[in-house]
Amino acid sequence: MDRIQNYIGGALVAPVGGAYLDNYEPATGHVYSHTPASDARDVDAAVAEAREAFPGWAATPAGERARLLLRLADLIEANLEALAEAESTDNGKPVWLARQVDIPRAASNFRFFAHAVTQFASEAHAMGETALNYTLRQPHGVAGCISPWNLPLYLFTWKIAPALAAGNTVVGKPSEVTPLTAYRLSQLCLEAGFPPGMLNVIHGTGPEAGAALVAHRDVPVLSFTGGTKTGAALARTAAPLFKKLSLELGGKNPTIIFADCAYEAMLETTLRSSFANQGEICLCGSRIFVERPIYDRFRDDFVARVEALRVGDPRCDDSRLGAIVSRPHLDKILSYINLAQEEGGTILTGGARVHVEGRCRDGWFVAPTVIEGLAPDCRTNQEEIFGPVVTLMPFDEEEEALAWANGTPYGLAAVLWTENLTRAHRLAARLQAGIVWINCWMLRDLRTPFGGTKQSGVGREGGVEALRFFTEPKNVCIKLS
Ligand code: NDP
Repeated sequence: MDRIQNYIGGALVAPVGGAYLDNYEPATGHVYSHTPASDARDVDAAVAEAREAFPGWAATPAGERARLLLRLADLIEANLEALAEAESTDNGKPVWLARQVDIPRAASNFRFFAHAVTQFASEAHAMGETALNYTLRQPHGVAGCISPWNLPLYLFTWKIAPALAAGNTVVGKPSEVTPLTAYRLSQLCLEAGFPPGMLNVIHGTGPEAGAALVAHRDVPVLSFTGGTKTGAALARTAAPLFKKLSLELGGKNPTIIFADCAYEAMLETTLRSSFANQGEICLCGSRIFVERPIYDRFRDDFVARVEALRVGDPRCDDSRLGAIVSRPHLDKILSYINLAQEEGGTILTGGARVHVEGRCRDGWFVAPTVIEGLAPDCRTNQEEIFGPVVTLMPFDEEEEALAWANGTPYGLAAVLWTENLTRAHRLAARLQAGIVWINCWMLRDLRTPFGGTKQSGVGREGGVEALRFFTEPKNVCIKLS
């Protein structure tokens, strides 16, 4: 059985304590590899290596840093199929999805920030003939990057790439639930000839390895994607240490559908925005508000399309949904389906586990689930489920839909379907969300700011925002006369 290893100081090494955790394949429910149960000693070793590598990497010209990152992007692309299979085995997502989205996007993250850093500039402020100010943007030192299990390599690289491009060295901690592609990435870093210590990857649990990284005094900057509760815990540790912190947290995203929408495109896209990656994307729309004149038509058409989605072995090209990432997460999703019924909801389709025959007979599958008849303020409509479960609610007035959309503690993304341009702009300005998609979903330009408001996060990733986050501005003022 495969033993995953940490990547410290340019070498693949076992955890100091010698302990490993079982790593499960969600589609079969069986252990298929082991991952290090690293602790503070491993984190200390990684941070020490990253510190030592920092001056050299920070002094490396941007063009040279870019060249190395582009080499890694090429290697990711050259290993697309193997990485897609690894991601699917580890996470449960269909392999076609990892092949089309996760792995190409991981390569794009490195490519994008490699190019971006060669174009990154800072400001100058002239004070007439009296003085000149210019702003230096310098890397911080060792950046800690902590990522979740839903888009494992995609989100890990979304942090690592800008941190490295900006001249920081990195200690990354992927989710212990999905460590495999981060391990494969370490192997590719060796092949790419990364200098030792420039990137280090520690595997282990959040409360042990993650917490040690967050608390480490030699890690001045932290970028975290994960749940809101975990984000709050991180902030409690980081604040008294005055660390710079970026938090990308949970969501409970609304989809608002007006009767004048382009119906077919809306239906097709809403199917994806509800159930892509088993609904385990922070950007999925889990609360669907439909204008009353088309509510019945939408409900019937939507349910019919959902029932045609095949749930099955992630290795099969015709499986639209694969397995749920872990047994605890499966139980969480099922408990919310029960809660929805207790709260008076009607299950229109789904609502239970799916038993897949053959090699996946012990796997963790849930049918895509559509629920109606719930109030907007019930727990099912307020708390993040992060699975293939959506609720439908009819609305009469634009103001009502807006109030419901904004009526949760979250504010990550919102989707709006209307052909009325004035209404689209009016609502876009008033929706409490970091990202608003109008007549589309998950259309991403890596230059745009990415992140949430309220309990969905603090700060923005993407484009120049990320390069600014991973650098410290320093103003230099020169008196000219
Ligand atoms: P968690 O918050 O449980 O974990 C995220 C990461 O933090 C994992 O690597 C985890 O390690 C680690 N971690 C857990 N506890 C601690 C701790 N005390 N100190 C340091 N690190 C810790 O989230 P999930 O992995 O369950 O991911 C799902 C969540 O992520 C959802 O809420 C989802 O909305 C959110 N998310 C947000 C996105 C955004 O861009 N806003 C994008 C994608 C997901 P381990 O898993 O090994 O315990």
